[in-house]
Amino acid sequence: MPTEPKLNEKNWEAKIEKELFQIWMREDLYKFNPNSPKKILSIDTPPPYVSGDWHPGSVAGYSLIDMIARSARMSGLSVYFPMGLDRNGIVIERTVEKKHNKSMHDFTRDEFLGLCAQLINEYGESILDTAKLIGLSCDFQNVYKTDSEDYRTMTQATFIDLWKKGLVYEDFRPSNFCPHCRTVIADAEIEYEELETRLYYINFKVKETLENILIATTRPELLCACQAVLIHPDDERYRHLHGKNMIVPHYNRTVPIIDHAYAKPEFGTGVVMICSFGDQGDIALFRELNLEPILAIDMEAKMTDKAGKYVGLPVEEARVQLIEDLKKDGLVVKEEKIMHRTPLCERCKAPVEFIMVKEYYLKQLEFLNDIRKKTDEIKFFPQKNKQILVNWIDSIKIDWPISRRRYYATEIPIWTCNKCGEKLVPKGGRYYRPWREPAPFFKCTKCGGKEFTGETRVFDTWMDSSISNLYITKYKKDLPFFRKTFPNMIRPQGREIVRTWLYYTILKSHLLLKKKAWKYAFIHGLGMDEEGKKMSKSLGNYIDIRPLLDEVGADAFRFWAASETGLGDDFRMSKERIVGASKFLTKLWNTARFISMFEDKPEPQQLIETDRWVLSELGKLIKVCEDGYGEYNFFIPANAIRDFIWNVFAPHYVEMVKTRAYEGGESASYTLHTVLKSVLKLLAPICPFMTDKIYRELYRSSVHLEEFPKTRKEWEKKLTKVTPDLVEFNSKIWKEKKEKNLPLNSEYTANIPKKLMLFERDLRAMHKLK
Ligand SMILES: [Zn+2]
Ligand SMILES: [Zn+2]
Repeated sequence: MPTEPKLNEKNWEAKIEKELFQIWMREDLYKFNPNSPKKILSIDTPPPYVSGDWHPGSVAGYSLIDMIARSARMSGLSVYFPMGLDRNGIVIERTVEKKHNKSMHDFTRDEFLGLCAQLINEYGESILDTAKLIGLSCDFQNVYKTDSEDYRTMTQATFIDLWKKGLVYEDFRPSNFCPHCRTVIADAEIEYEELETRLYYINFKVKETLENILIATTRPELLCACQAVLIHPDDERYRHLHGKNMIVPHYNRTVPIIDHAYAKPEFGTGVVMICSFGDQGDIALFRELNLEPILAIDMEAKMTDKAGKYVGLPVEEARVQLIEDLKKDGLVVKEEKIMHRTPLCERCKAPVEFIMVKEYYLKQLEFLNDIRKKTDEIKFFPQKNKQILVNWIDSIKIDWPISRRRYYATEIPIWTCNKCGEKLVPKGGRYYRPWREPAPFFKCTKCGGKEFTGETRVFDTWMDSSISNLYITKYKKDLPFFRKTFPNMIRPQGREIVRTWLYYTILKSHLLLKKKAWKYAFIHGLGMDEEGKKMSKSLGNYIDIRPLLDEVGADAFRFWAASETGLGDDFRMSKERIVGASKFLTKLWNTARFISMFEDKPEPQQLIETDRWVLSELGKLIKVCEDGYGEYNFFIPANAIRDFIWNVFAPHYVEMVKTRAYEGGESASYTLHTVLKSVLKLLAPICPFMTDKIYRELYRSSVHLEEFPKTRKEWEKKLTKVTPDLVEFNSKIWKEKKEKNLPLNSEYTANIPKKLMLFERDLRAMHKLK
């Protein structure tokens, strides 16, 4: 006999999620046991970068990562799911500089580091709060921080290993330099954009013939660093100039005219000046033609004394003034606006300069083939996103510059002997700060000198991030733990950091261990707006994640993230669609509430046909979900479950079985609960809150301690074949009653098709067929 619904709440409310999360924490529900006999899956969780705001696309990405963890647990694995916060890097430095309206160089280093640490603590808490709101089942009790002494010790220790293997060297060479961040950056940190700029046509003079030759350039301020002029060997217009020399205007220096295919006859006037350094092309040509670079721009992005009267001016200003002067001398013949593919700093979007700097490099060029092989040993989800990495590896042309002239980062553990210049590294195992502590050596191993100077530079932040897989598995600290957790690991991450985080981790694991970094890599897409455009506050298409979660709840957000986006594709974020996802949850809640009126009965000897039919549909659903979860493709189970509840179970089965259920039928009650229990388990990785709430209320334990349901051989596959006929028949009757303005529970006359006669009793009861 039916009773009051055991689910008290008429409607699902987001506040139930917060109560449940507290219960999970109290029960320590997701605790990882490294000694469990189950196979271990470790997750190399991306530590979110700590800044004021967490991008909604990123939060969607973490929802998927949590689905990996939950579905793996329910597939019988023991899941190691650590959590960290990435707290190194330039963004926090810039925020402090902005807040105090002062450059970091105007503080003492200690003072500045203190301010960064303070700000980062405030931001970190807010990210973790959001992570809890969306129900991450990670380890919140041991959140690691990439700026902790422990983490930095590991960064330094692994660097010292690389140094001892001879894989690090220092070199003075042209490097990408962001004048805004005031640091060298790697190729991986550059992005290109078509920007409007001015192309100036300037008159040069041929030394031997004194004729004027026009040269078009976007970088006139680099005239002082011009070391050659190129013409294309086949360009008839300039054939007579072969072997002659050119006089650089304003500076009156003589440079050779060289035939070279780099000069494109169709660009500008076909004659091109080569300066140190306008772009990557210049760098390559200086190397190829063995030209001596002239250092025209310094590390503050100001002109050096090589620029003559423009010394000390920022690059842009020097350009304006020089053009003014050239115009006075009648040397600028014309100027035009053009779109120019401009290299920009990925972080601050400032145009990148190319200047000569002395930096440390980690060797990678000679290992690219090994890296390709390691990449092939990793299984990618989805396979198509592997290509981004492959293309990147193919494009690498220089070793990795790993030193930076910043403060809030891991120090490079090197001291230089004052007497002979030898560079010494200490033993790994503790955190070194060479700029503020004495050298941990008695004497120089080379000359016996006793005075040392500590390195003031720090590491590129990817030097820290690229050992996350080793850090979380306690490499070099706890060998038994490392042996258990390292071999079966997955790296989930966003597509935008394939060139950096993904690549550098593969590189480091190879250089340090000769091993692949993980067994699997899961690359999800980015959060875009509905039209697929980048979201930004200034464009007004940005969605603030916290108010959204307060409104719709985590389960709806997570269900949207899983059901709207194919594996590896971008999230098209629309508030309307996210709110729409909660409709399915309402349907599920109402269905479960109905079922909760009936007792969960043991399996009877004989099942009624309608019950056998829905169990066959359930078997099909379980199989589809199993395959989807097996590929970490949450789109598949999310849509299959919704389709089952929405289009089969609730409208057809539940309606057909109601009469029997109210009469206390065992077969009906058993089947209703079997289907509900199975659906809750299948959906638990995607919607962990509602499924757990229902499961706890009705079945007195947490759904998150269960494994996925399995299909049973008694569930006859062939019964699923009648589903379309059944759906069609029911829909037909409903439609006819509606057309005749009859209430749905009115008596009616209709013939049951032969194929459906096995459901005769339930169909007659459902439609009140006479
Ligand atoms: Zn920058
Ligand atoms: Zn020495």
